[in-house]
Amino acid sequence: MKQTAAFIDAESVETLNTAAVLDPSSGKAIAQTADCGPDEIDRAVRAARRASRQWRRVAVAERARILRRIAELIKRDEADLARLEALQTGKPLKQARRDAELTARYFDFYASAVETHYGSSIPLNADTMIFTEWEPHGVTAHVIPWNYPMQIFARTIAPALAMGNCCVLKPAEEAPLTAVRLASLAFEAGLPAGALNVVTGYGETAGAALTGHDDIDHISFTGSVEVGRIIAHAAANRVIPATMELGGKSPNIVFADADLERTVPGVINAILQNAGQTCSAGSRLLVHESVHDVMVARIAQAFANVEIGPALNDPALGPLISKTQRGRVMSFVERARSHGAKIVVGGDALNGGVLGDGFFFQPTLIDNVDPYSAIGQEEVFGPVLAVTPFRDIDEAVRLANGTDYGLVAGVWTRDIGTAHRMIREVLAGQVFVNTYGASGGVELPFGGFKRSGYGREKGAEGLRSFAQIKTGVVAL
Ligand code: NAD
Repeated sequence: MKQTAAFIDAESVETLNTAAVLDPSSGKAIAQTADCGPDEIDRAVRAARRASRQWRRVAVAERARILRRIAELIKRDEADLARLEALQTGKPLKQARRDAELTARYFDFYASAVETHYGSSIPLNADTMIFTEWEPHGVTAHVIPWNYPMQIFARTIAPALAMGNCCVLKPAEEAPLTAVRLASLAFEAGLPAGALNVVTGYGETAGAALTGHDDIDHISFTGSVEVGRIIAHAAANRVIPATMELGGKSPNIVFADADLERTVPGVINAILQNAGQTCSAGSRLLVHESVHDVMVARIAQAFANVEIGPALNDPALGPLISKTQRGRVMSFVERARSHGAKIVVGGDALNGGVLGDGFFFQPTLIDNVDPYSAIGQEEVFGPVLAVTPFRDIDEAVRLANGTDYGLVAGVWTRDIGTAHRMIREVLAGQVFVNTYGASGGVELPFGGFKRSGYGREKGAEGLRSFAQIKTGVVAL
């Protein structure tokens, strides 16, 4: 079995205790990782602080060169990284390959973006010269989830390093293996020792020690609302800025005039990608009553025929991340059933047979969902689509905005007025029309309204999260 150490100050660091990593496709342990505690975290933060005194002074062109070299090394090792990602998360191999490509793209993108990230001058009067410039925070802490470990690593680390910060990242305990590999590639690419550290371990110990450390200057958190709230408190206690990329309950809203040939596959992919374990999963189908029956019938037929299998066999649908997660999904489905919703297809775990030891769950379509019930309101994080019909655009807007979340939304219509009105009125960080997602969306600012979080990552906007603006005023 693989032993994976933490990566601190460019060295592999082992700990007395270790944490097991399971393959969700088989339920078997595939690795043991370091279980970091306060001592390892402190060592990592001190290494980052020391490195940050130099790294922030490195010329932007040189920082960009190193980021581009990291991207090259990720491309060189793409097949291995994708295999490891598929193994630890259960995602189908082709999705993991796509994730590896996007991981490299983040480093290339932020290398270019930082080279043209300028301050401005402010023409106050003839006797004063005023300008702004962007400075790094210093030491940034990054806590990430298990669903897209490589992509989220890259989207938070690449802009932070590009702006001149030094980083300490804690990956999720379920899927820490690729983060450690990526950090060692960054070092191979020429990143100075201490500029990027990965501390593996559990949230309540390693995560809490990192986000509660006195010498960090910024926190970038991606994960659940529940943990986001704890971490936001930790940031508030020390009055440091934080970016919160939290959960979602995103609607796909289908109008009567939608082109169903495009809509049906779009809606299906939005919920089945990564087995529904995507923050921006389209987990609610709000559908005009006139096309409700045809949409439900077509989706049910497709769900019944989805090929399910172990990640490395590259099926259409892999397992959920853990037994606990599968139990959580099951309990949402059971509660929906007992509240009178109709399970059109699916609704159960895959027990027994060759897949019986993995954490598989059938693609599940639930109709007649009360939009204010648990399954209509809460993030399930599984391949479960909840359907609610609407009568007119006002009701569609009300339903779309009727949860605590506001991450993304999809709108399917041929009417340009309906499309624009929905973009205006739906409270979400991204609204897609006649598509869903944007091929990874590295270039597009991403983040939530309401409890889906605050701050933005991705796109050129993402650089600003990792910098603070300073104004210089010179009397002439
Ligand atoms: P989680 O909140 O349980 O864990 C996320 C990370 O926080 C893990 O690394 C975990 O170890 C750590 N953590 C847990 N408790 C902690 C504590 N007390 N202090 C510090 N760190 C702690 O989330 P998860 O189950 O790993 O991921 C699923 C969630 O992530 C979903 O809600 C999903 O929507 C969200 N997510 C959001 C985005 C986004 O960009 N908005 C992207 C992916 C996932």
